[in-house]
Amino acid sequence: MQRISIVAPMYNEEEMAPIFYKTICNIVEKVKDKYIFEFVLINDGSKDKTLSLLKEFKNKDDRIHLISFSRNYGHEAAICAGMKEAKGDAIIIMDSDLQDPPEVIYELLKKYEEGYEVVNGRRVDRKKDSFLKRFTAEKYYDVIYKLSGKIKVPKNIGNFRLISRKVLDHINALNERSRVFRVIVPYVGFKTTSVDFVRPKRLKGESKYNYKSMFSLAGDSIVSSSSIPLGWSLKFGIYTSIISIIGMLVFAIFLILKKCNVYSLNIDSKFFFLLFFIAFFFSLVFIFLGIISQYIARIFKEAQDRPLYIIDEDLDSNMQK
Ligand code: UDP
Ligand code: MG
Repeated sequence: MQRISIVAPMYNEEEMAPIFYKTICNIVEKVKDKYIFEFVLINDGSKDKTLSLLKEFKNKDDRIHLISFSRNYGHEAAICAGMKEAKGDAIIIMDSDLQDPPEVIYELLKKYEEGYEVVNGRRVDRKKDSFLKRFTAEKYYDVIYKLSGKIKVPKNIGNFRLISRKVLDHINALNERSRVFRVIVPYVGFKTTSVDFVRPKRLKGESKYNYKSMFSLAGDSIVSSSSIPLGWSLKFGIYTSIISIIGMLVFAIFLILKKCNVYSLNIDSKFFFLLFFIAFFFSLVFIFLGIISQYIARIFKEAQDRPLYIIDEDLDSNMQK
């Protein structure tokens, strides 16, 4: 029998945790003749009753592997811990607020049976999102898609997916720390497909992602998936130096024409033109210092070599390694 680990991070999900657990139990019940399940639940430093609820479930259900962080480390770190601890032949990563519909698990498993190593859940309907969220998400995927070069990061695919043990072991073996799960999976490769789903609204509780954390995820995704922005500084440097050389030549000609009394330029406009000319160069310098600093920040993080998370408690499931 195939062994499947369901990995779900939870941060302040006291309202959703019982509903999630019940739903997932019902879902796996229907395929219990074909698969053995493990639930890897990560409490990402919740401040509400999430941990005590999860402990209650764990006491009655040995399929649960409960991992509790010492504080809130964030969604990506929680997924990472789940991936390291999961023991299944394949794992399914999903949100615990039922926004990744559990019924889709059947379709993920079907594709896995067909021999796919990675089965992505793809959102097909974003009508329920606000205009700003839809717009930023679209731009996010567009930019990542364009910048990711050879490794294509597919559009409208978040974290909801099934990955086989083989792919999982490769991801776990990667050393880099500041990684974004949805960017690292296509990097690893292997036979991939996707199943479509409509993402419903959150049933209870509220989203833990505000625009600030969304932009930080977008920034991380770009810097971790591409070094193309570094190349821009060189390109712009070449273009702007060509422009400035042409500018200097034009002004040299004007000066010569004035000296020979053929034509004279209005002094004021020349002064302002030069002022904007210099300001333009300064702005470019600042933009590129910004881009470079993104990468330096990344090197700094890697050099710090801090653990991605610290586990406070680790209550294992009954599944054998
Ligand atoms: N989550 C987490 N740590 C965090 C933020 C979120 O483990 O710091 C979990 C959260 O409990 C949920 C999933 O990540 O299971 C997705 O979060 P959320 O529903 O808030 O994001 P959204 O669906 O709004 O993008
Ligand atoms: Mg959600």
